[in-house]
Amino acid sequence: MSFLDIHDLGARYGSLRVLDGIDLSVEQGEVVSLIGPSGSGKSTLLKVITGLMKPDRGRVTLAGAAVDYSNRKSLKAARDRLAIVFQQYNLFGNMTVLRNVTVAPTTIKKRNRRQVEEKARELLDRVGLGDKLHVYPDQLSGGQQQRVAIARALCLEPEILLLDEVTSALDPERVSEVLDTIRLLAKDNIAMLIVSHEMSFVRDVSHRIAFMADGRVQEIGSPEQIFDNPQTDRTRDFVGRIS
Ligand code: ADP
Ligand code: MG
Repeated sequence: MSFLDIHDLGARYGSLRVLDGIDLSVEQGEVVSLIGPSGSGKSTLLKVITGLMKPDRGRVTLAGAAVDYSNRKSLKAARDRLAIVFQQYNLFGNMTVLRNVTVAPTTIKKRNRRQVEEKARELLDRVGLGDKLHVYPDQLSGGQQQRVAIARALCLEPEILLLDEVTSALDPERVSEVLDTIRLLAKDNIAMLIVSHEMSFVRDVSHRIAFMADGRVQEIGSPEQIFDNPQTDRTRDFVGRIS
């Protein structure tokens, strides 16, 4: 079985059906990207996986355990294995960069403060912010703040990292520094599920790409398949329009 295994997943907002039978898997260390038109349910899928929204049918299995989204213990066990970064980085404005990264592991996960700090310094170094440990978020550019948010997610030591359009709120000249950071991390054998509109990045970083429309995965395959040899008309239309 795959590290993350999703079968026939459904979800809705009131009477609006948003996920309508999602089947998707991510292997250990695999990078899978979700592409598709706005409103196709990509963010909703990430929300359901992380337990921010409840599914109304189907099943999610993480590291071999079925996630019961109505059961606090099961949900906590799942959340311990994943981390998510959103478009809006939402750093704590009253905390330094270093504290932003260490606060959840030390307070929520109650891990050893010195070890967490060491890890945080190492991560901030990797995302190119080793010299910004003691500054506050408002002294950083959007791209730098988003890299702090990525370091913060990684300090939780997730086995899978979910990224939802993490460059969409950035100035164009800041996009590449964040994408380069993600490329670097992808080499580390951490599993990732990435939603992005940056098609050349998606093509370059992903092992597989899933095309979503109408709350379903319409096609999944290698970057070459999706971009050069799509198997469905809808995928062809979509990649034809955006690339
Ligand atoms: P994507 O991320 O692919 O753009 P979303 O998952 O955000 O798509 O949205 C899927 C559908 O669900 C859209 O029709 C959107 O309008 C609707 N939707 C998203 N969030 C909400 C919400 N909080 N309440 C009601 N409808 C929502
Ligand atoms: Mg979205």
